[in-house]
Amino acid sequence: MQDTGLYWRPLGGNNIDQISGHCYQYTCVEQEGNKKTSIIIDLGKFDNYQAVGVDNAIAAVPDVVNLLTDKSFNLKAIFLTHSHPDHLNGLFHYLRAGYKLPTLYGGKYTKIVLDDMYDYFAIPMKNRPKFVVIKDGDVRRFGRLKIEVLSSSHTCFDAYGFLISFNKVTVYHSGDMKVDNSTFFKKPTNIKRLKQVGKKVNYVVGDFCEIDHDGIAYRECDVYKKIVDYVKHLRKKKIYMTVYPTHVEMYIVAFLAALKLKLSVAFHGDDDFYTYMRYLKKYGMDFAKLAGNRIKVFEKIPDNLNELGNRWAIIGSYRKLEEQYWVNPKEALLFVTARSRFMQLKKQADAKGVKAISVSDEPMLRGAGHAFIGDWQILQQYIKKAVYIPTHCPNFVLDSFCELGRLAGFNLINPLPHNNMLYFFGVGGYKLLEEDKAFWQVLTKDGKMVKVLQCPTAGHGTIRNTYSRRRTMQQFKIIEHKMEKKYGNC
Ligand SMILES: [Zn+2]
Repeated sequence: MQDTGLYWRPLGGNNIDQISGHCYQYTCVEQEGNKKTSIIIDLGKFDNYQAVGVDNAIAAVPDVVNLLTDKSFNLKAIFLTHSHPDHLNGLFHYLRAGYKLPTLYGGKYTKIVLDDMYDYFAIPMKNRPKFVVIKDGDVRRFGRLKIEVLSSSHTCFDAYGFLISFNKVTVYHSGDMKVDNSTFFKKPTNIKRLKQVGKKVNYVVGDFCEIDHDGIAYRECDVYKKIVDYVKHLRKKKIYMTVYPTHVEMYIVAFLAALKLKLSVAFHGDDDFYTYMRYLKKYGMDFAKLAGNRIKVFEKIPDNLNELGNRWAIIGSYRKLEEQYWVNPKEALLFVTARSRFMQLKKQADAKGVKAISVSDEPMLRGAGHAFIGDWQILQQYIKKAVYIPTHCPNFVLDSFCELGRLAGFNLINPLPHNNMLYFFGVGGYKLLEEDKAFWQVLTKDGKMVKVLQCPTAGHGTIRNTYSRRRTMQQFKIIEHKMEKKYGNC
């Protein structure tokens, strides 16, 4: 890193065969190598730590040790796109291992989650880094490096993308994002700003996590309508509604559907579920207030089920239900919003003769947090000339996306990024500068950090292939075929 300009390096997020552990370095160099300024965006945890081959491992995180310890990088800040563990939880492990972190910049909701996790991991007050709350439209400057905050629609509150500028180069770093402008109680993706600046954006570091899905990502208002329609058409009065704990937007979508249908609501779930309910409350979400006098709302299922009346919805992350809560199969309907997680519940419903609608029948029920290919095609209309840099995706998915990506008109970076590749982002073009091996830092039970080479982990550990290679390729072929039919093979 000698020439004046902007440099980018993925340190997690472009993994070999898994997702999670997202982390990106941006460094600008001024005055021919004399002055560097760096920021990190996100510092998540890598989920398949059991597979990295270290005894007593309790976590694996992106390797940012150099950035934290080598003063020449002049690391000024860690910007947090949102509160999910694959973008956030690396922070705690570095703090536990005794590292000092620079100031953190993130949303109000992210801070609520972070403060709770500091307590959980017993991080002493004096070791907690300074936190600056950011919001849509904020601009922060570090020397000549400028960061503008843009709201993003995702499955939690206060998710952000960033416009990162240095000299005449501008990067749109999307964070986890879909285009959905129908989000309830949170700011949607700031399309207006992207339209304004689109022509000036040279690079897009984008969330391509669900790029193998055709069309646009499910909108919250459509998921809501879908739930309402099912209940109305099937004339059901007792609803069992499952939600994924970290995806708080689904708590709200399910609640609003119940409100529309005039069903009393009882929340019911595991510790994880109630942790997120607590975050929602701290954030200012008050379900009872929202309901007014229209429906009854219970934080837990009341001892006497009759208190709920005869039209109700049980909303939560429960994997199975106690016997007494299964009532009148003819009136009941179960929504299964995540196949593997709620499988046991589905079996229970089947045994009771309760109708179940699962994501296999109706994929929209799972909600969506990440852009589908259609979302990116919408943004491409405004950000036409940029080089697109897919992230949040295993390497093999990206490799098989290439053909479709180019057919869809994306100017994809070449070669596609793998963790620890270093690129120079210029006005007139980019350059791959280094292609070093990538590493994870693995934490052990005794509080040590061990540097481990990144290797394929599919088939090892508790998480196997995040994606099926064959299924993904098939999906790409199907979408490609549709596009060729629509636009002709050019
Ligand atoms: Zn996320």
